[in-house]
Amino acid sequence: MLAWPGGKRAALFLSVDVDAETAWTDDDPARTDHLVSLSFGGYEGRVGTAKMLDLFRQLGLTATFFVPGWVAEAYPAMCEAILRDGHEIGHHGYHHLRPDPGSPWIEAEMARGFDALKRRLGVVPVGYRAPGGEFCEAQRAALVRHGLKYSSSFRDDVRPYRHLLRDGSAGAVELPVSANFDDWMLGLTARFSPRSVMAPHDVLGMWRDELDEIVDWGAMLTTVLHPQVSGRPGRLRLLRAFLGQAAARGDVWIAPGREIAAHFASAEAASK
Ligand SMILES: [Zn+2]
Repeated sequence: MLAWPGGKRAALFLSVDVDAETAWTDDDPARTDHLVSLSFGGYEGRVGTAKMLDLFRQLGLTATFFVPGWVAEAYPAMCEAILRDGHEIGHHGYHHLRPDPGSPWIEAEMARGFDALKRRLGVVPVGYRAPGGEFCEAQRAALVRHGLKYSSSFRDDVRPYRHLLRDGSAGAVELPVSANFDDWMLGLTARFSPRSVMAPHDVLGMWRDELDEIVDWGAMLTTVLHPQVSGRPGRLRLLRAFLGQAAARGDVWIAPGREIAAHFASAEAASK
């Protein structure tokens, strides 16, 4: 079993998806004129991302922010602040279009996403998270073709693993996610994204219990946080409590995706 660095017993991949308005326009471009729905996304550039950066700085934590290319172009100052604090920026498509099987935009989303991150921020990402929580074989092959080292999109494990493409060749490393740590599913309801939300103290109990079990398993967890959810006051308080407790334990390696994927790849190479 993969051992974690520094004698830690588990890993926590601290990751954030900065979708901004693309979270609302990806399914339906006509929403660009539903101004209040769109304004949920605007919270990220105005308030949410800065609040999350403050929190990570206070706790001394380094995270990965998955940023669609459109967001890098619309909010360059916000993205520069992410980089200034030493965080990683990952690829999250260009307009947050979901890579369903047969999607005609897979190559264009990849290319435009790379281009925007490079041109606006000077970033060449090594990590990718599929927008909208779907994937297909063409997308899996595209990661290898574009030199991406890892994906963080699948829900089939609690430890890193390497993808195998349909032709039998090696794919990217996967840092799996779980819906239990996706704040959107727990804490946001809106006209175009309606659901019941969980009270922050209930989420804290659920997260704490799951982390306890993950440590017992020697496994990892991946947060999927959105500044338009976790950057809201009550949700930020919850996140502060959870991350503070996780950091205070001392036995959990809290790291950005590039470090966890590199750790997996070097252990894999050493075992061959
Ligand atoms: Zn997203």
